[in-house]
Amino acid sequence: MSVAKDFSVKFWGVRGSIPAPGAHTVRYGGNTTSLEIRCGDKLFAIDGGTGIRLLGESLMRAGPVRATLLMTHLHLDHVQGFPFFAPFLVPGNRFDIWSAQHNGIGVAEIMRQLFNQPAFPISMDMLKADLHFHTLQPGDTLQMGDVTVRTGLLHHPGDAVGYRLDYDGRSFAHCSDWEQPDTGLDSTLVDLVRDVDLLSIDATYTDDEYAGRFGPARRGWGHATHPAALAHALAAGARNTLLFHHDSARTDDQLDQIARTLLAHRRDARFVAEGQVFQVGQPLMLPERVAGS
Ligand SMILES: [Zn+2]
Ligand SMILES: [Zn+2]
Repeated sequence: MSVAKDFSVKFWGVRGSIPAPGAHTVRYGGNTTSLEIRCGDKLFAIDGGTGIRLLGESLMRAGPVRATLLMTHLHLDHVQGFPFFAPFLVPGNRFDIWSAQHNGIGVAEIMRQLFNQPAFPISMDMLKADLHFHTLQPGDTLQMGDVTVRTGLLHHPGDAVGYRLDYDGRSFAHCSDWEQPDTGLDSTLVDLVRDVDLLSIDATYTDDEYAGRFGPARRGWGHATHPAALAHALAAGARNTLLFHHDSARTDDQLDQIARTLLAHRRDARFVAEGQVFQVGQPLMLPERVAGS
């Protein structure tokens, strides 16, 4: 019997918009977007939110790093961890960093702005790792060895890119940041994630928040409701779904409460928490939690 190859996803940051540390976000975590994806001996990462600092600490313990970094977009919560990503400082490390152009700007330009005095004391030319920047068009398919990376345009202010990685007969997709259409389904997203084994998807708001029945209406802010995320996952035939990009004001108890209402009896969907690791193709019920995360 052949043994399935390692195809795992670890979430180092799951919070949306701004880091949210504190007593009420301990269980789900307060760091912004950072994912680590292992496809055999290949390392991918998604985004550079504050969670990437922790990914960096993990990689520093493991020796030379060769990684492909996929950027969903360039909003602050997805790039603000870069200045504290220690592997960028280490000679011999190599990163291939992919992003679309957002309002004519790619990730290299945003990094130059971040690594710039007086905002930050380290400049880009002090980074000793090899950084190779690549531009993609949403809709591109990128073949990276035995991993196929498909991309799709997500509806979000300034646009965002959804990713789908197919490897060893299994698939993982990450679609955040994204807002559902006013009516019907987002066919681009549904096509991208069709029959995917594991999906993480923007699910920021309750219906009441989105409609303005509780605080300001969030429609047009670029993020989806929990029910819309689940409806799209269902329509696409996603086998397992992780609700992602938790609202910065959402407490652990509130997430648990929403889960009790929305996800009762669901074994295929959950709110993802920082530090969780999932093997793509396996059921969701028993995520590993890695020591030290
Ligand atoms: Zn975001
Ligand atoms: Zn965004």
